[in-house]
Amino acid sequence: MTYITGTTQLLGVIGDPIKHSLSPVMHNAALQEMGENYVYVPFSIKAKDLKTAIAGFETIGVKGFSVTIPHKLEIMPLLCEITKTAKLVGAVNTVWHTETGWKGTNTDVAGFLAPLKTLSHDWSQITPIILGNGGAARAVVVGCVELGCPEIHIVGRNLQKLAEFQNSWANLSSKVNIFTPDQLPELIPQTQLLVNTTPVGMYPKTDESPVELRVLEKLATGAIAYDLIYTPNPTQFLAQARQKGAIIIDGLEMLLQQGAIALEIWTKKKPPIEIMRQSLKKHLKLN
Ligand code: NAP
Repeated sequence: MTYITGTTQLLGVIGDPIKHSLSPVMHNAALQEMGENYVYVPFSIKAKDLKTAIAGFETIGVKGFSVTIPHKLEIMPLLCEITKTAKLVGAVNTVWHTETGWKGTNTDVAGFLAPLKTLSHDWSQITPIILGNGGAARAVVVGCVELGCPEIHIVGRNLQKLAEFQNSWANLSSKVNIFTPDQLPELIPQTQLLVNTTPVGMYPKTDESPVELRVLEKLATGAIAYDLIYTPNPTQFLAQARQKGAIIIDGLEMLLQQGAIALEIWTKKKPPIEIMRQSLKKHLKLN
């Protein structure tokens, strides 16, 4: 346990609900290993109380916090500065205190990219397929733009939301194309990066997959299958893609990497990534 003293500083995560958040597990494990005198606490904050809560954070000297559903958009007007990445995504997930006020960024983009950057692929030749067009898909699109993918295919089930999603990307260096799930059999054989950003296959519906097996079987050997879901680990989608010879990346790695980047912003020190990874795996009983 962290030894709390009179000089212990406060970090945390805001959301509603918040009790299932894995962030306190990995951040407190890291802070303890780093010997940093901080604690990281879950704060359950209703949407209507956000402004009051952030004013309270200022008063009690909170140093920084993570932001999750439903506050990722509503936090933005309460900040004095927002990074270009967070503006592009349209959501903030990490906030830190400065002399001029609260600053915010979105570490999901770099978190998504971290495992991909360990692979040596020519991203300018790859057209990723992103399943889903919600909040997480926005961070994945920005990540694919940063990789230098010239075109990005988005697959969604709701035509109106899909069109709105496409129209929301103005002046992007990559072209965003939209498709419906019935077009996946033609799309999948052509891609080297297939990313699931839908919750399909997430616990407790672990026998579901966002792509039918007969369609997933068309995935090229050596293509990357990336699932943002972290429980179960692996998901059925990843297990089936692995059988097909794909390189698989799970959502736990993205969760871990986005958290590590946030912790470095708050402490200005490199966090112990392996300790964070092991703490998550132990908590989720994955070891
Ligand atoms: P969201 O904003 O609600 O978006 C979900 C997307 O999935 C929407 O496009 C939705 O389509 C689609 N969808 C939902 N149910 C579907 C179904 N049965 N069939 C087909 N499409 C379906 O959620 P989000 O915040 O983007 O999160 C999505 C997933 O990513 C969650 O599992 C979340 O845990 C995970 N995530 C992981 C990380 C990480 O660090 N690993 C970070 C962020 C999110 P409609 O709009 O048509 O409903």
